This record gives sequence, C-alpha cells and structure tokens, in this order.
Amino acid sequence: MQWMDIMDDSYRLRIFLFVSVSRILRVLVTIRKTHSRPKKRQKISTVIADVWQRTGRLFTTVMLCACLLAIAIPAHSATRTYYRAIHEFGYYQGIGDTPELACIDMLNSRELEYDYEYFGDWASYDGIIDVPPVPYDHCTGVVWFSGIACLYSTKPVNGENVGCSHVGKILEEEESWYSIRIEPESGMPESPEILVSTEPGQSSNGLVVRVYDDDGSLVPDVDIRLEVNVKENSGGHQHHSDDRPRGNVGGFNPTPYIITNNTGTDGYKFRFRAPVIAGDHKISATCVSTACVQEGPDEVWVGIKNLVDIENGPHHVLIGTTLSHIDNHYLTKEAKAVLLELAYRYKMLSFPFNPVLHVNDASLERGGVFDLDQNWLSPHHEHRRGTEVDIRANLQVGAIPESDFEEFKELAKELKIDPLFERKWDKLTGAEITGHRHFHLRLKR
Ligand SMILES: [Zn+2]
Ligand SMILES: [Zn+2]
Repeated sequence: MQWMDIMDDSYRLRIFLFVSVSRILRVLVTIRKTHSRPKKRQKISTVIADVWQRTGRLFTTVMLCACLLAIAIPAHSATRTYYRAIHEFGYYQGIGDTPELACIDMLNSRELEYDYEYFGDWASYDGIIDVPPVPYDHCTGVVWFSGIACLYSTKPVNGENVGCSHVGKILEEEESWYSIRIEPESGMPESPEILVSTEPGQSSNGLVVRVYDDDGSLVPDVDIRLEVNVKENSGGHQHHSDDRPRGNVGGFNPTPYIITNNTGTDGYKFRFRAPVIAGDHKISATCVSTACVQEGPDEVWVGIKNLVDIENGPHHVLIGTTLSHIDNHYLTKEAKAVLLELAYRYKMLSFPFNPVLHVNDASLERGGVFDLDQNWLSPHHEHRRGTEVDIRANLQVGAIPESDFEEFKELAKELKIDPLFERKWDKLTGAEITGHRHFHLRLKR
C-alpha cells in the first residue's frame, strides 16, 4: 500500500501536532466567544467562531481519523510466508488426471511418510506465488493444497510422464519489521539519495550492508543480496543498451553485479567498483530468507567532479556535438582557462584575419570513456578527465591552415600544452582520411 509508505513516523508526528494545535485553537475561540468583548471585537470573534463551527469540526474529525489510522497501520512492514521446499523429484503415472491432482495425490501420500521440515532449503513467496529456483526447468506450475506447495511440470518429461518436484509446507506467516541499509563504513552518505561517489574505473570507499529490527538494533547473520543497475541515459550518454557496463559489487556468481552473502556479526562489507563509463548506479539490497525493506540512500554517482562547460566564446566555436553525446565540451576549470588563453593568443597572432579555434570533443559532462560509436568502448584516445580537447585542422571550414601549424604548436608549447597532430589512414586503400586531421591538445600543465 502506498499509504503505508508515506506514513512514516515524521508524518504521524506532524498530523498529531496539527490536530493538537487545531484543538487548542478551538478551545481558545470558544473561550473568546463566551467572554464577550466590546462590539467591534466581539464581531470578529463571532465570525471566527462561526467559520470554525462550520468547517472546524469536520476538518478535525478527518484529521483525527487520519492520525489514528496512521498509528494503527505499521510503516515499513512486509508480510512474507515461508515454506520449506523439498528437493524430491517424483513421477506420476496413472494417479490424478492432471498435474495438479497428481501433486495432491503425491502430497497426500508423502505427508504421512515424511516430516517436511527436515528437508531442503528455505524459500519464500510474497503475495503472488514467487517460486524459488528449481533444479528442473520443466517444473513450472505450482499448486497449493492444505497449506502445502507443490510444483508440477506443464511439459512432458520422459515421454508421457509428468514430473512433480519441490513440494513444500508453509511453516509460518510473519510480519517483518526489518530494514536493510547500505552505509559508508566511515562518515556519512553523500546526500539523502547518493551513498557515495567514485571516479570511472575506480573503487568506492568502503560500504557496509546492515539489517536492523524495528528498534534499530542490528540483526546479525542475515543472508542478503545486492544487485547493481545503471540508469539509462545517465552520465552524459544519451543512448542505452542492455550491455551497458554497470558497477561491480565484488561477487563472482552468477554475475559480478549480483551477489549474495551473509551479514555476519557486523554487516557485510564491500566496495563498489565503478565501470569506466560515467553514470548513475543504484544498488538494490534485499534479504534472502526474511522480509525487509531497503532504506536510506542507494545511489552511486560515477564520474569526474567539477568539470565545466567550455561554452562558446569570442575566440572559439564549439563543434562536434551529436545526439548521443550532447554535452561533449567539458573540461576542468584549469584546462578551460588554458584553452581560452590559447584561443585568444591564436586570434591575436593571426591578426588581421582573426580566426577562431574550432573546438571539437573535450570530455563528456562527467568524464569517463567517451564512446564515439555508442558501444561503451573507447575509440577516443584520452578525453576522460576533462584535460584534453581536439582542435579542427582538417582543411575544412574553420580549421587551422597548414601554413599556421608550426606557429600554433609554438603558441601551445608556450602555454605548456602538449599539441599532438593526429592523422588517420584508410586501412584498405592506404589513403589518408584528411577529415580526421586535428590537434589533440593535452591541456594539463
Ligand atoms: Zn556514450
Ligand atoms: Zn583527441
């Protein structure tokens, strides 16, 4: 219920205060009404009392009901039912007309023979039937009979036979008040939403997953599961595919971005290893064998901080923006200052023609791999930290003319810029792709 989610303690407190204040006001108005004053003032108090009479009672009643309801409904509760699954596998033939009936037949006979609680692993379902992983992929159906779960096959197995496996018995239904939180090992989360930030390709500071009960006490030895997902179109990449790299939480199976582990006595410690692509990641934490609700920040911000947009200026123009990478002109503050100085000097040098530098790709808004081909790989050498930029030098409009190359390089070197003239040749024909020519400037001093 949405209601339960929004009715946390602070809401309840606010409603309680609101109702209390309303009631006090009402008493004050009543006192004022009964102790008449001179005519003018009496009129005002009468009007207030009259409005209160018309609206106040109803309002107070509604708020009081809401308050009582909020107190009555527990926040952050989740009901789960547990049953113990039995990894037995049976065939039925000639018993029951359908798989469901066969299961019931099997369960009836087995219930007499076995104590279910001795077998198998814990499993749970949550409202709708969420069947646990089954060892046999043909066991796809489920039926409940006298509180017993039975998985059955909807596909034939071994010719005409139909398999039935994974029977289980409901052991308990309980309401959990546990919460699960991911917290920095030391210090505070970066914000109410962001847990921690890290640079592309780097590991975050230490994080720890802990489970708490309703009183805020640590619950030890809880099996937990972490899964990392990356937000589409985040980090300056206006493109998405399922193979977009996501952060790694250090596990091995089945994938590095999903792990299960135990919290032990003091929580499960891990580090978030960022992919080389900037972006927003979300770590979902769940409890494997008990119900809990994730609380607190769950996002990891991956990128280079404090990059600034170069923006157009009097001595340069920005080129090379694409729909997939709209913000492709980001640099560190220092690198931007050096570039602007270079553009200014270049313009002065070539007086009276006043050329402007045509500034192509720098870094994406949060740095990281700049995948020109939208494939999460890097054909763009460097351009990851806001310290390199490409300048057009390809014989096209606005390009630095070849006759000025040497002077341009000298200018760059005066500013301690490393100017690399980059060229590319067609692999088949061997001819130069002249459109590729550019100066790749390393602006870092
Ligand atoms: Zn991209
Ligand atoms: Zn470059």
